Amino acid sequence: MTDNSRLRIAIQKSGRLCEGSMDLLKAIGVKLSIRDRLLIAHATNLPIDLLRVRDDDIPGLVMDGVVDLGFIGENELEEKMLERQALGKQHQFQTLERMEFGGCRLSIAVPNEFDYQGAQSLAGKKVATTYPYLLERYFKEQNINAKAVMLNGSVEVAPRAGLADAICDLVSTGATLEANGLEEKEVIFRSKAVLIQRAGDMPDAKQKLIDKLLTRINGVMQAKESKYIMLHAPKGRLDDVKALLPGAENPTLLPLAGSDERVAVHVVSTETLFWETMEKLKALGCSSILVLPIEKMLG
Ligand code: ATP
Ligand code: MG
Repeated sequence: MTDNSRLRIAIQKSGRLCEGSMDLLKAIGVKLSIRDRLLIAHATNLPIDLLRVRDDDIPGLVMDGVVDLGFIGENELEEKMLERQALGKQHQFQTLERMEFGGCRLSIAVPNEFDYQGAQSLAGKKVATTYPYLLERYFKEQNINAKAVMLNGSVEVAPRAGLADAICDLVSTGATLEANGLEEKEVIFRSKAVLIQRAGDMPDAKQKLIDKLLTRINGVMQAKESKYIMLHAPKGRLDDVKALLPGAENPTLLPLAGSDERVAVHVVSTETLFWETMEKLKALGCSSILVLPIEKMLG
């Protein structure tokens, strides 16, 4: 029997979203004892169960309310949403947070020898894809009379195999396309991983736990974008120093032993410090300039 009082989170069991989701859960303090082949993993320090499934199943599990949360690529989520909408099935959910991992784009690519003069060149053509609903939506928006052909795998070999004239597939570097003699022509969807929540009432205790996890997730994401900067600066140039450090309105100033003219400046900067800025700081007379990563932030 499944325990309904525990928060159920669906994540991809293995694949491109797995590492990002697991790393994030670890960073927000969810301790897991994962045994490789098991569908369910229990957190040992919080009332959380992880459901480890194929990414295709995650949107449906959330939209049917079988799990409370899920980590999923926006491409897969949007495709399943459109499919369920078309079939008249439940397709409600709430997006809690866009993640910094799982970035990719869904693009139309054509064989090198295709005489491509813009999207209208696809008129009357067959385009192989795993995302027929997203592709059909694009065709409709662009007023292109083309046909989406559903293929679950090996999309990139479809033109060579004579199954389609072009393809619409996920791309990150473009190396796979190139290796298959294909050229990327249109980006139809840009995707990242998102954390989604099921629609409907959430028991108080679960909602509190979700809020706590979200605060921690924001803390981890904010920390990634921030740096802790330490430097020694001449007292007379503090305003110029502050002007060079983004987000440094209220730096901590500490006296330096044996020096009346210089102080130590400590600051959390919202941007990474570029070499150019560090060189400018040095030109202002600053020394011992250190830029440190921050692991977690709260408040
Ligand atoms: P599963 O066995 O879970 O069904 P899969 O083969 O469908 O796995 P993966 O290849 O692991 O899926 O990709 C999962 C998700 O990762 C994609 O839906 C997409 O959101 C994201 N992703 C990021 N970069 C890429 C990429 N270069 N190619 C494909 N997907 C990518
Ligand atoms: Mg899949």
